[in-house]
Parts: sequence; C-alpha cells; structure tokens
Amino acid sequence: MIENSKLITYAKNHGTPLYVYDGDLIIQKYKGLYELIDYPKLKVLYAMKANYNVGILKLLKKHNAYLDTVSPAEVFLALKLGYENEKILFTSNNITDEEMHEVQATGVLFNIGALSSLEKYGKYYPGSNVCIRFNPDVYAGENKYVQTAGALTKFGILMSDVDKVIDIAKNYNLKIIGLHEHTGSGIGTTEQVFESMNNLLSLAAKEKFPDLQFIDFGGGLKVNYTPLARVIDWKYFGKKVGELFREFCKDYGKELYMYFEPGKYIVAESGYLIIEVNTLKNNRGRLIAGTNSGFNHLIRPLLYGSYHHIENLTNPNGVKKVYDVCGNICESGDCFAEQRELPEIREGDLLTIKTAGAYCYSMGSLYNLRSMPTEILVFDDKEIVVTQKISNQKLAEQIIKSSNFESI
Ligand SMILES: *Cc1c(COP(=O)(O)O)cnc(C)c1O
Repeated sequence: MIENSKLITYAKNHGTPLYVYDGDLIIQKYKGLYELIDYPKLKVLYAMKANYNVGILKLLKKHNAYLDTVSPAEVFLALKLGYENEKILFTSNNITDEEMHEVQATGVLFNIGALSSLEKYGKYYPGSNVCIRFNPDVYAGENKYVQTAGALTKFGILMSDVDKVIDIAKNYNLKIIGLHEHTGSGIGTTEQVFESMNNLLSLAAKEKFPDLQFIDFGGGLKVNYTPLARVIDWKYFGKKVGELFREFCKDYGKELYMYFEPGKYIVAESGYLIIEVNTLKNNRGRLIAGTNSGFNHLIRPLLYGSYHHIENLTNPNGVKKVYDVCGNICESGDCFAEQRELPEIREGDLLTIKTAGAYCYSMGSLYNLRSMPTEILVFDDKEIVVTQKISNQKLAEQIIKSSNFESI
C-alpha cells in the first residue's frame, strides 16, 4: 500500500485530480497467481480492459505477461507495445466482419462466443485454430451488469449447443484448441468458480474436442473494496482449482494449459484517485463536499452502486462528520459516496478514493468536456507520468481539430 504522506506528495508534484498506480503491487499480484494456483502449466492473461494504461502494460510485459483483449484497438495497442501475437487472446463480442479481418491479420487467436460468428469465421478462415467461449450457466458477479453467464446474458455459446459447435468446426476444418468461460466480475464465492469450471470441463471430453491445448476459466477473481467484505481463502482456491484441473487432465489424457484472465484482481487495489475539495455546502444539515473530479473519471459508484473507500488525506484526525462526496459534473447522481462518515472536510482538503485501479480510468469519458486526470505509475522507487491531463484550452482545441465543420 502507498502511504498517505506519499499520496499527498504526488498530488503536490502533479496536481489533482490524479490517478496513482502502484506498479510493484500490480506485479506482485500478477506473479502471485502463479504461486497461488497449484498447477504448473498455467498462463495468467491480464484482461487489459480493466486498465489499459500503457505504463502498466509495459511493466507487465517486462514480467512476461499474457493478455486478454476484447477489441481490435486493444489488440493493436498490445502489439504496438511489443506483446507477441501468441501472448494475446482476442475475446470477440459482436464484432463486424471488417473487425474480424483486421484482427485475423495480426495472427492473434480468436475466442468466439456465438454460433453465427463461428460460422463466419470458418467461412473466411477455414483450417484456423480457434478457442470457443461457452456460457457456463452459473450466475455470478457482484452486479447484474457484470454477470456474464446464465440464460439472460449475451455472452458465450450455450452448452446445449456443443454439437452445433462441433459441426461448424468440422465443416470448415477449424481446430478447436481452447475452451473458454467467463462467469462474471467480482464473483462472491469460490464455489461459483468451481461450479462453472466443472460445467465447462464436463463438455471438454477428448472424443468431442481432441485438439485441446488449453482451457480458459476467465476472470472475475474478487477484490475487496471494503474492509468488511468476506475474505476469500485464496490458498484454498489455488489448491482446489489445481486439483480439479489435474483430475480433468487425467481423464483427458493430456496435461493441458490452464488459463485465467483476471483484470480487477491484478490492478484494482493498485489504484488511487486523488481529488481536491473546492466547495462545501450545508443543505439543511446535509453536508456536501464538492470536488474537482466526477463520474467521468470514476463511474463505478454511479453505474454499479459500488463502494470505494475514501480517506481525507490532509485532515485525517478531524472530527468525524457525515458527507456526500460529489463531483463537478452536471448530473445529480454525480457522487462518489453518499452519507459517508469522514474526518472533517475543509475546502482545499485532498481526498483519496481507493481501490481505483480497475474499471475507473478505463471507463472514463470527456463528458461535460472535462479532461481525464493525469496518471502516474510508481514502481522501483520511480514515479513516472504516463498520461498527462490536458488543459481546458487544449481540450477545446482538440475537439475543433478532430472535427470537420467548416462547410456547415
Ligand atoms: C472483463 C473480462 C475479464 C476480466 O474480468 P475481471 O472481473 O476484471 O477479472 C476476463 N475475461 C473476459 C472475457 C472479460 O470480458
């Protein structure tokens, strides 16, 4: 964990709002999974949609990371940063034919989650290797928007359609080298992981899929956003998934690779958003702390009702009071926390929003035409500005430059 005094220094050096990422922790979490999971032929694919910061991606590359990508631009960004195509998996979702061609040209392996996409892929590229994404029929995930399995989801091919998958693959001579599932984000209990693993493995018989090289159990490994959350017994998890997979491989007759694709687990706890309070209000007793950031920088509380821990960096010993901590965006839902007890907040105080490394900056926008914060990456006692906030003037100029309106 980065100490609060350091966060204050970073804020002084770089201004606010400011994202700070703890690169040492990211590497520790990434490598830690290899120690945790008791199976030697393991590949951990970082799901880069959680945070595509190029500093983080480069740092992970130095440590031989693999990537899970979900869009053509993610694939191109990874390749441009020097990731080899065989270290990247492309999990396509409702892509156009054009996008399919674009990604196929890179040589990256496709993970296909719809019968119609598989048919198209086979027609265009007969004889290719593919990975198939099945819907493991387990509902899990901390919020309905991030539950990516079960009958109501758009993701994956139904397990009952397994024979259709095999027919299509035969027709086009596709070699199915991987099977995949991703159950959801922030899965609450390890039992749900085991259940979806077992469901997928029950499909993966040698007679049906003779060419398998790996099975990918997706992401969704849980991160605690509050100190009160149920702690997952990761040791037990690592031992159990190893056991399950070993047993499967014995039946299959070959030691396959096991993949996991965590995003949140790798980066969430590494991130801090530091913001400054500029306006205090007392609305008939309801205290509102207005800050220089907003849901355009960190949307999880508004979108998912997520809890993010907040600390008052510059008045940690103040008398506790209850606040709504809000942003500067013109919508009433623009709050990071409602009715949160915090040490007294004064105008000018710096707050830090914690566990802000995953799905925070990467879900950001320019809404209200407010630019995204500066991001710094801290590792090996280095402090590197990876992206720089652009000024209000520059942002306006950029909009003009990237538009064509002269003839209007
Ligand atoms: C989002 C996603 C992940 C990562 O999910 P986390 O909850 O961040 O671990 C992994 N695989 C796929 C296919 C995804 O879409």
